[in-house]
Amino acid sequence: MSGTKVEEPDTLRWRMLEAELKPALWAYLKKEDPGVSSSPETQSMETLRKVGDLIMGEARSFFAPYADTAIANKYSARWKYPEHIMPTPTPTFMDRVSYLMNRAQMVGSQEEEPTGVAGGQEEKPAEVVGGQRKKSGTSIFSRHGYKSDRDEAKLERFVGEKMLREPGIGPIVDRHILYFPRLEPERGPTIYVQPKYQLPKFLECILRWKSIFRLSHELVHVLEHEKFTEQREEVEFKLLVQEGFTEVLGVQLYDHVRQKAINDRGFRAKLEEGLPMTYDKPPEKTVEYGAAGPRAEEIRREVGDDNFRAAYFLGAVKLVGLEKEKKP
Ligand SMILES: [Zn+2]
Repeated sequence: MSGTKVEEPDTLRWRMLEAELKPALWAYLKKEDPGVSSSPETQSMETLRKVGDLIMGEARSFFAPYADTAIANKYSARWKYPEHIMPTPTPTFMDRVSYLMNRAQMVGSQEEEPTGVAGGQEEKPAEVVGGQRKKSGTSIFSRHGYKSDRDEAKLERFVGEKMLREPGIGPIVDRHILYFPRLEPERGPTIYVQPKYQLPKFLECILRWKSIFRLSHELVHVLEHEKFTEQREEVEFKLLVQEGFTEVLGVQLYDHVRQKAINDRGFRAKLEEGLPMTYDKPPEKTVEYGAAGPRAEEIRREVGDDNFRAAYFLGAVKLVGLEKEKKP
């Protein structure tokens, strides 16, 4: 049993894939269910819009001279953040399909954690194996020959026609959609922020700072240069361009806002307006987003902040090694 190379089949074994994906997706949805039974209330949009405006003001000087010097950037176009912050609307059937499609891809491509010890002894606790590389070829997709360019339509039918007809799945999926804020690029763009549930007072502060982080992250997306966005189609690991760089810059902006709030009581009071309780210090945030954030952070360390920002905000993608060599 040594040499754990898993063979990947060439042909799609759809029935077997489906039989595994269904319970795996259910398990994921239940594990991450925000688990709220009360009806959600809207966060104060008035306050969040003021907060968004403050964040946009900070971003301008913090990312200068990059985010504010691109031709037709959002500052020169007088784009106003408060006008684009909205409460998440009630999910539609298509919202459910696209959310579940995204999660099916995530769950299906998830590689197994290395487990077990030679000789079939007890398994090591998670923290011992946690730092190791995941076993490649072990995901549901690779074991059953799924290829995203060929089989995506099949997966979409499975999500829309089978998963979403499972009894009881609708409310869980809706809670997921409502809970995770998102950017709707088609409409303006619009930034949707999550509702609040009947929270204990001390959690309202956490929710506010989570919203401040999301508003920072989504604003960075809004300021992204289109030439940078186009690179999604050029790279193998799409999520790196799609979310990794944004994640790094979003965390930087959040850190800056957080530090300023710690040092400036007036500024902090505006960000925390209306909260029944606050903390000693606002919570910290680390770079995440699966492997995408940490990979982008490695690039940033290598090329430096200036090149990283010029690539993202001004479209100087060569500076981070993203543009392919053009043929003469
Ligand atoms: Zn994002």
